Amino acid sequence: MIERLNQIGEREILNRLKKFMVKGQIEDDTAQLTLTNPNILINTDIFVENVHFSDSTMSPQDIGWKTVAANISDLAGSGVDHIFGITVGIATPAKTSWSWLEKVYQGINDALNHFGGQLLGGDLSRSNQTVLSITAIGSVGKLRLHRSYAKNGDIIVTSGPHGLSRLGLALLTNNPNINSDNLSKSLKIQAIKAHQRPQTGLAALTTLKNCKPSLTPWRAAGTDSSDGLLNALQSICESSYCQAILDPNQLPKANSWPLGLPWEKWCMNGGEDFELILSLPSEWAQSFVATFPLSKIIGSIQKGDPKLMWTNGEEISLSTFSEFEHF
Ligand SMILES: [Mg+2]
Repeated sequence: MIERLNQIGEREILNRLKKFMVKGQIEDDTAQLTLTNPNILINTDIFVENVHFSDSTMSPQDIGWKTVAANISDLAGSGVDHIFGITVGIATPAKTSWSWLEKVYQGINDALNHFGGQLLGGDLSRSNQTVLSITAIGSVGKLRLHRSYAKNGDIIVTSGPHGLSRLGLALLTNNPNINSDNLSKSLKIQAIKAHQRPQTGLAALTTLKNCKPSLTPWRAAGTDSSDGLLNALQSICESSYCQAILDPNQLPKANSWPLGLPWEKWCMNGGEDFELILSLPSEWAQSFVATFPLSKIIGSIQKGDPKLMWTNGEEISLSTFSEFEHF
């Protein structure tokens, strides 16, 4: 028999969720952090059913994992050096099963065990539609990545290939625009994993900090590519008031990524890639791509009114490559 949340009641639900938290965490309405570093990073992301996730393409565990990964990805894009944890707000219909909720928390727990941090608390409510809101808290050290820190002459680097998550979604929804028989098995597995169980830029960030040439200052621009590669670059250009010049032959494509449409579009702005997009001094960029597997130099930064351009001077129109809009 399926146990529904409205049959269990809030007190019992919270009692059952205790197992996912540090002992004593759930008794009070607040969590207490003891800090040695006052430089705190905080971010919140909201995930709405049928906008950001769907039960038809993701298990409840995947939903839990991915919502945490998306938040950790934002912390990574700001240079996080320690993750304290997250709070989780979930609103869901009263008829939702306990089993679904438990599995979401299992996925949240798996992600925290993998990326670091603890479940610090949260809230639950009844709602017509399922919504998860996660707030992540971390601290930052010597390297604070800002979108506004790009400089003329910088090299643009990505920590990994783009478009895989979008391909994963296409495969999971049997998108008629692609013939999956023509794709390599490893590309398909990689793409579905990127969609359901994404990694974040944390590993790339550790390498970035460790590979900085000693005389290069701790100055780098960065963000994650959760809204797509071009959106990430556009946001850096606008914040830093500069132009990004991209080499069309150096796009960050996965191995055996096909040519043409929709592939180009998915790589450029498929979204949910959760890689780091960095604007680095040349010597730091060279050191990073020599050290971090799958990272790639894709272009450079120059002065000028904010825009994206190909190396031949042609402007890259964001609307041509648009895939996902929040509104
Ligand atoms: Mg993000």
